[in-house]
Amino acid sequence: MIYEQLRQQMDESLLQKDESLAKYTSFRVGGPCDCMVTPRTPEELAMALKACRENGIPYFILGNGTNVIALDEGYRGAVIHIGKAFSDISCEGNVITARAGALLAAVSKKACDQDLTGLEFAGGIPGSVGGGIVMNAGAYGGELKQVVTRVTAMDPEGEIRTYSGEECGFGYRKSIFQQNGQIVLEAVFELQPGDPEEIRAVMEDLMHRRNTKQPLNYPSAGSTFKRPEGYFAGKLIEDSGLKGVSVGGAAVSELHAGFVINKGDATAADILALMELIRNTVYDNYHVMLQPEVRLIK
Ligand SMILES: Cc1cc2nc3c(=O)[nH]c(=O)nc-3n(C[C@H](O)[C@H](O)[C@H](O)COP(=O)(O)OP(=O)(O)OC[C@H]3O[C@@H](n4cnc5c(N)ncnc54)[C@H](O)[C@@H]3O)c2cc1C
Repeated sequence: MIYEQLRQQMDESLLQKDESLAKYTSFRVGGPCDCMVTPRTPEELAMALKACRENGIPYFILGNGTNVIALDEGYRGAVIHIGKAFSDISCEGNVITARAGALLAAVSKKACDQDLTGLEFAGGIPGSVGGGIVMNAGAYGGELKQVVTRVTAMDPEGEIRTYSGEECGFGYRKSIFQQNGQIVLEAVFELQPGDPEEIRAVMEDLMHRRNTKQPLNYPSAGSTFKRPEGYFAGKLIEDSGLKGVSVGGAAVSELHAGFVINKGDATAADILALMELIRNTVYDNYHVMLQPEVRLIK
């Protein structure tokens, strides 16, 4: 029904019926969505939003799917995927402009290739620019807030507006785009000229730290919980004796207790039940209520 409604108003080549969300998310769980929409241009995105609005179809904006959990029952509505078609990256002087579907790793590499410093921290973050802006992605003391000076976004009515870095309301894993329903189209990063050797050395060091300390050989969504003020989620979970604890196919990583991993056959229900177990156990032990960093497709 939803697929048919969208097909009346949109080019069929942009639509996929009953597409599995497990394929698009780094946790590799989740059922089908009624319709996956993959716009190639902002105009097609506006058309998708209009079709959803006119037919009362709920929609979810998906980037690279590395900070989300798709539910086992899938999603009743349209998942609008901002992907490869939106992945241009350009550089002028110290300024890099990247569209929302570009991968943060590719933007970080571009900066490195241009001998620009400021985005080394993002080299190993597997998300897109759009998802990164929404989450104010960060690592090893860096966060996008420090280098993003302008964001272009589209509102649900298809109007485009730009935000200064300050207007983005960036905070710890937070931005205004988590509340205002705008779709990130593009971001501008202002960087500094740096020493090429040093930039490469920092990037290699951070990649090495990731490769040795994170369970990158298992599907996950990175850190499952936000860092609570004054604590580290991973340490609270480890000190609660939860390393290796599992529910169905979901487990607390032995390597990094801050990561819930999919051992291969996890369901979304397993992951959510394990997250609840972790939250309750940590709360009982430390009176700290962990807040999920990962977001549900719902
Ligand atoms: C192995 C691993 C390591 C990770 N390490 C880090 C890390 O070091 N630091 C860190 O911060 N994160 C980390 N993450 C989490 C994740 O990569 C980041 O949160 C990333 O910014 C998410 O981007 P995404 O494109 O995958 O977004 P998605 O997961 O697709 O979406 C995340 C949220 O953003 C919204 N969204 C996505 N694109 C847009 C858009 N264009 N416009 C509006 N809304 C949009 C979605 O609706 C959703 O609410 C890690 C994840 C994994 C799997």
